[in-house]
Amino acid sequence: MASPSFPQKNGEPLAVETVAGLLRNGSLHEAGRAGVAQAAQHLVSLGLIETATAEYVRCVDHRDPDYRYVRNRSCRGRIRIEDDADDDGDGLYCPECDRKVYPRGKTRCRMMQVEVKPDGVAAFLEGLLKDGGVEPKQVYPWVWRVDTPRGEARLVVADYCGLEHVCRDWAAANRACYVVVDAASCKTRFLPESWLVWTRLADVVCGSASVTDLLSSAAATVPTSQVRASVPVYSATVRPVVLSASPQEPDHTEQPQQRPGKTWPDPLLHTVAKCWTTKDGTFGLSTKTQGRYDGKAEFARDTIQAKLMQLVCYQKWQEQLAEKERERQPRRSFEMTKLADFLAEIYPDDMVAARRDAARGDAACLKALLKRFRSLISDIRTKKLEPAGINPDILPALGIESSIDTGLSLRVAHVHYLDANSPEAQEASVDPAKLDYLRRDELA
Ligand SMILES: [Zn+2]
Repeated sequence: MASPSFPQKNGEPLAVETVAGLLRNGSLHEAGRAGVAQAAQHLVSLGLIETATAEYVRCVDHRDPDYRYVRNRSCRGRIRIEDDADDDGDGLYCPECDRKVYPRGKTRCRMMQVEVKPDGVAAFLEGLLKDGGVEPKQVYPWVWRVDTPRGEARLVVADYCGLEHVCRDWAAANRACYVVVDAASCKTRFLPESWLVWTRLADVVCGSASVTDLLSSAAATVPTSQVRASVPVYSATVRPVVLSASPQEPDHTEQPQQRPGKTWPDPLLHTVAKCWTTKDGTFGLSTKTQGRYDGKAEFARDTIQAKLMQLVCYQKWQEQLAEKERERQPRRSFEMTKLADFLAEIYPDDMVAARRDAARGDAACLKALLKRFRSLISDIRTKKLEPAGINPDILPALGIESSIDTGLSLRVAHVHYLDANSPEAQEASVDPAKLDYLRRDELA
């Protein structure tokens, strides 16, 4: 179906994968890369995206003078240089590893950040149908009814529509044809059933898929007879991330209301997690919800994000051990590790200072530390777990009312860590020496 490129009126053909990459909201692209600027310009002219270009430095860049001092060379963080920052003497924090980076003297690169315009997507699709001689009627947000020569069908934008419109029974009854804007791993997000009609917006833009043809075949589709009730045909977990003025401070108010948050089943009942440490020290975690694979998130070695994830996984694992133990010794109690212990592990020096101040009656330091910890959790939830397709609620969203006595653990039904002997461990190049992170206390 897919042709690798589409001809432009003037100039080189553009790669469909480049277009697909650019249709990811919030994504960063090297502005100078061949084909990218051209494809972006085309998408801007279609009203599908807007772009903003800014200068960035890489946290880790072998060309930079600070390279030899960097301890965590696996960090992929990029730090945006604000236009008005004429004096960078204060340093900036890497959004990935929290390292303080001094941009002066570091190699700069121009990066383009994409903002997908949902209204533009709607206008583009409606325009295409009208050009094809079809009059679309919008019946729900992001759902249009269309009459085709072979009958009625519905055009649905899977990224933005309501969850009821990605249910299998609805799709079958309404002859739906889905268009996916952010097409990252969309193959795994649709039910693998041949009657389902869907395409990527990139393929539509590049002309390798025709919406009118697809709607026509959706109208004539005969779904397999056993329609189970309300199974989602499309896992909407990977909602596009929202573009922010600065990647370090996402502006959540910009989120369009049409995008409903995914409703997840309670992870404590329905989600199982797997975790591992690879040879290069990366901490990995993947989850399954109700037996279906959600996704995988990785945390670079020696980062505070990795540390936090290791700690909550370890905590959950300890709970499981205690649970087992209770079968033999029912009276043995298990105490959940408190937030204070996490703070002491993650910010050891600051926590010592905060405790000292608190003992003198000054809680400001502790409050600031709690705030920092909350934003660390919120970062992992929104920038790591959600984009990976993992239920963010496996990490508790710490509210203002949470105190240093709040217990903290990975909120899943079960966690297990990859064993050196398991085939998956080999795939993930798990380091047998580091496998025992979760077992360290048991051995101690
Ligand atoms: Zn970094």
